Amino acid sequence: MLSIVTLGNFKKRVKWGKRHMRSKKRSKLSQSIQAVAILPVLLFSIIIAIFAARLFEKEMNIEAEEELSALCTNLSTMYDIKYPGDYRLDTGDGTKIYKGDTDITSDLSLVNAVAQSADCDATFFYSDTRIHTTFTDNKGKLIIGTGAAEDIIEKVYKAGETAFYRDIYLYGDSYYVYYMPIKNSDDEVVGMMSVAKSKERLSSVTNKTIIPLVAACFLLAAFVAFLIHLYFRGIIKVLETIRQFVTNISSGNLNLELDGSVTQRSDELGDIGRSIVNMQSSLRDIFEKDPLTKLDNRRSCYRKINNIINKAKVSEIPYSIAIGDIDFFKKVNDTYGHACGDEVLKVVAKKLQSHMKKIGCVARWGGEEFLLAFDHFCAEEAKESLEEFLEVIRGTVIKFDDLDIKVTMTFGITEGDSDDIVTLVREADEKLYYGKENGRTRVVL
Ligand code: GH3
Ligand code: MG
Ligand code: MG
Repeated sequence: MLSIVTLGNFKKRVKWGKRHMRSKKRSKLSQSIQAVAILPVLLFSIIIAIFAARLFEKEMNIEAEEELSALCTNLSTMYDIKYPGDYRLDTGDGTKIYKGDTDITSDLSLVNAVAQSADCDATFFYSDTRIHTTFTDNKGKLIIGTGAAEDIIEKVYKAGETAFYRDIYLYGDSYYVYYMPIKNSDDEVVGMMSVAKSKERLSSVTNKTIIPLVAACFLLAAFVAFLIHLYFRGIIKVLETIRQFVTNISSGNLNLELDGSVTQRSDELGDIGRSIVNMQSSLRDIFEKDPLTKLDNRRSCYRKINNIINKAKVSEIPYSIAIGDIDFFKKVNDTYGHACGDEVLKVVAKKLQSHMKKIGCVARWGGEEFLLAFDHFCAEEAKESLEEFLEVIRGTVIKFDDLDIKVTMTFGITEGDSDDIVTLVREADEKLYYGKENGRTRVVL
């Protein structure tokens, strides 16, 4: 099926496209692309930060348990070294605690030493009662003589197991606490050692590490997001330039140039840009060129002549219009065939184009007729120029198969004394007709 694309229905389609675009709500590609690219980076950084914080906290718990367990063991060993022997209550009123032969009831030196060395609190329980401790109440008085919590007594004192608590609330503060049973040589549990470290103090250390880490993570994510933003802004700019260019083409403006920032790209966007430029050039050929001779058609010829007229108005330098027609062209067709006629048209067109190259323009007016516009030539100069051209044509041998064909032409010229192209063409046509009537192969002024 033959599809005929005319400028009329091309423009209709463009109007339909514009209406269609208006009826739909415009969504911004720039926003969606950036959201798709940047959001994952931000989400990823949040997940990393949460994961890092969790991992760090877990590590802190393990480290706290190990450190407090070691301190408890040290404390117990210190008691054994300083006072060898078993723990016991005195045999008298039972208010004094002995280790070996020494009364240790009021010896706080060991818990104090451990507490100072590790910035923590240490307690020595005999059975379930605090005997030595570094904990004080809000008046600064040592909390001695108080009992341990029921579940700690059960687990450590009665069951003889160690216990680690991550969050025990003691005297207005939250603590990591490690409890260890104390055994005599017969393996009987006689009391407990505990070492406690304020969580607040540990958290401040944690925060000092975690906060910069999380901040660095976010900064890095923000930087990556910024780079992605810059990259996509460049891409969107190129797309916008292409869109503008295509919009211009769709409005019938086929002579604009696509910006070098698109055509010089070596990626797919550059390929798209170059394809659109090729499409523009093909459309320009379809709408402005005659397909057989590749000369301008009437439409683009009108535009060029209008330019010449406008320039002449400003400069007041004359210009001329001419119409040329191949003599007895029908005979060429009838004698040698239509294909031969086409070849003659092509050769004549080529000769005309090269003749008019620097002095004006030429278009295929229709059939075997050509319209010529002489920029800055008065009618006399145009006549002189065309007579030279007639000599060229008379001497041109057109080869078709093994035939040698020669043709002549007749021209009618008028000087540009009107703004109206139609009038000028009619005048030139009348001269041409006169030339045909009066022997052909001549230039009529
Ligand atoms: P004249 O000297 O009076 O101009 O005589 P002519 O034979 O050149 O003029 P006429 O108007 O009788 O014939 C023009 C012919 O040109 C008729 C038409 O078939 C032919 N023609 C028009 N367009 C084309 C074309 O594209 N290719 C070919 N081969 N022939 C064409
Ligand atoms: Mg004719
Ligand atoms: Mg003719």
